[in-house]
Amino acid sequence: MSRPRGLAEAIDVLRADPAAVPLGGGTDLLVALRAGERSVRHVVALRRVEELAGVTTGPDAVDLGAGLTWAGMEAQVGATLPALAAAARAVGSPQARNAGTLGGNLGSAAITGSTLPVLLALDAGVEVAGPAGTRTVPAGDLVRGPGDVALHAGEIVTRVRIPRARGPQQFLKVGQRGSVITAVAQVALVLDLGARRVRCGVGAATPVAFRPRAAERAAEAAIDWDAVTADPDLPRRFGALVAADRPPLDDLRASAAYRRHAVAVLAERALARALAA
Ligand SMILES: Cc1cc2nc3c(=O)[nH]c(=O)nc-3n(C[C@H](O)[C@H](O)[C@H](O)COP(=O)(O)OP(=O)(O)OC[C@H]3O[C@@H](n4cnc5c(N)ncnc54)[C@H](O)[C@@H]3O)c2cc1C
Repeated sequence: MSRPRGLAEAIDVLRADPAAVPLGGGTDLLVALRAGERSVRHVVALRRVEELAGVTTGPDAVDLGAGLTWAGMEAQVGATLPALAAAARAVGSPQARNAGTLGGNLGSAAITGSTLPVLLALDAGVEVAGPAGTRTVPAGDLVRGPGDVALHAGEIVTRVRIPRARGPQQFLKVGQRGSVITAVAQVALVLDLGARRVRCGVGAATPVAFRPRAAERAAEAAIDWDAVTADPDLPRRFGALVAADRPPLDDLRASAAYRRHAVAVLAERALARALAA
């Protein structure tokens, strides 16, 4: 195991050994190693890499280190990014909340990952660094499929930059057993009162989280942005449009019909709560 102290050293180690794998809090990777689902010869622990730490809140954006844990998100961004803090609060076990990181959540690219739908709704950019330097990828382009992250060899997620939006935010999920990892539908919603935009991220219902663009546009057109009100039936119509955006997964955790219903209910509730806030 390598324990680099800085980003340049971490990237050097990853570049030198193509078999090396980054380790955040280990709440996914160590579980997979113990279960024999993965085998890794060389682990590069990122915990001491100081460039991955901290939260910076500026006038235009909030900048989160990839090493931020769920507990850190809950404690540090509740006021600026309430949807992300709510997603962190919904992680079932205190151990996972204390160890699991933002970078590891994106690195796992699990279908049930909670941060991606929120980052989509927040219009986040993900900074990655590797042997060729640093680049920023829209959150929606980072994860291509389950376990498939658009990172080049030796690259890691370093920071996530979120433009500040004034207005209510929601994160809701349903799972087989409350807040454990097996979510079958998650919805994040941001009402951006300044830009007069509705942004929604849907997770756990399809192989990759997505934004239901047609539903967003329909809601934007139907909201009275001066009064921040809408026809009482708008949330229901919005939920139906979100659920109709694409076919949901049909697997052992939930049927497609259940997921479609769950997404419609969550999206309806999220918009209704946001308009009432
Ligand atoms: C009881 C329990 C409950 C959970 N509940 C939830 C939940 O509600 N929602 C949810 O989304 N997840 C949940 N998880 C899963 C897990 O906690 C998260 O996915 C967590 O964010 C993973 O972060 P980590 O730092 O532990 O990643 P690790 O296990 O260290 O790494 C995961 C993967 O990401 C890679 N990686 C790590 N850091 C980086 C980086 N900076 N850049 C690029 N790749 C990187 C690793 O190589 C590995 O492939 C739960 C897990 C447990 C055990």
